[in-house]
Amino acid sequence: MTQTLMIAGSPVPVFPGEILPHWIEAARAKGYELVARISDRLHVALRCSQCGALIRVRIYTLMSAHPLCPACVQAGWITTAQAAGLTYLGRCSEDRHYAIYRAQCGHLVRRQFELVERSAAGKTRIRCEVCHNDYEKQEAAKEGWTLLGSDPEGNISYRSYQHDACGHIQRLARANIQTGRVSCGSCGDQWPAAPSHLYAMRFVLPNSHELVKLGYSNNPHSRLHHQLIKDPDLPCAILRTVPVASGQVAIQTEKALHRKLRREHPEAVVDPKIYRDALRVKSEIYDADLTPMIVAELDKIAARNSPTVS
Ligand SMILES: [Zn+2]
Ligand SMILES: [Zn+2]
Ligand SMILES: [Zn+2]
Repeated sequence: MTQTLMIAGSPVPVFPGEILPHWIEAARAKGYELVARISDRLHVALRCSQCGALIRVRIYTLMSAHPLCPACVQAGWITTAQAAGLTYLGRCSEDRHYAIYRAQCGHLVRRQFELVERSAAGKTRIRCEVCHNDYEKQEAAKEGWTLLGSDPEGNISYRSYQHDACGHIQRLARANIQTGRVSCGSCGDQWPAAPSHLYAMRFVLPNSHELVKLGYSNNPHSRLHHQLIKDPDLPCAILRTVPVASGQVAIQTEKALHRKLRREHPEAVVDPKIYRDALRVKSEIYDADLTPMIVAELDKIAARNSPTVS
């Protein structure tokens, strides 16, 4: 009856034959006890003196290299992962340098052993892409942009973003999103601290309906001609522009004015259905009857902003 040994859960037949003294010596020097010859003339079973696990090793490997005990190696991965704030779940089936871990947030991350070791040593930090991506999305949303993905030009400090106001896609430095210093290359919407303008514009729709729009932009002319009107021949004009110190001030002033106009002249608010074929804007358009009021309001703001020299 052939004797067997259980190695990693499977029975392995003992191989008859002499065990050479220098094999035993080599095994001892490398942290193992040579238990038996197994399988065939090429293999031996070694017992790890660290953890007691039995491993199957080629005699050639035993003599020429340092066989690793998988149980001890795995124990090392587990403790290293813990030190890095991760839970070791298993090796990556596609790349032997990688393993799968659970991060503290609960998400799974795939990382190189070497990176986890550096993280355990405090030399780097492992972050969860899912959580980090959510964080960057919120950061962008606060500034009126949607994070689309990494930089198409491959700069790690940049990302691809879409401007919520106009749909324009451009690359921006993430640092500028974080500090709110972003300008849109299409609608010319500047970062809130950059100078801006309030404006009143007039449009005449093909059915002769006359409209007035109140808004703000750092470049009202570009906004009108390159963005708002769908047909370049649509009769339109900028009636009044008032420079303001920053986009922030422009937004606040504009919003307050719209509230006032809607409250005092609800009948002058035009249904977007009427102009949506002609203009790229979803609201804040009034009947032209309101033009004198809007211009007067802008005049008041202009007078407040630039006190007359006497
Ligand atoms: Zn071991
Ligand atoms: Zn996460
Ligand atoms: Zn834009």
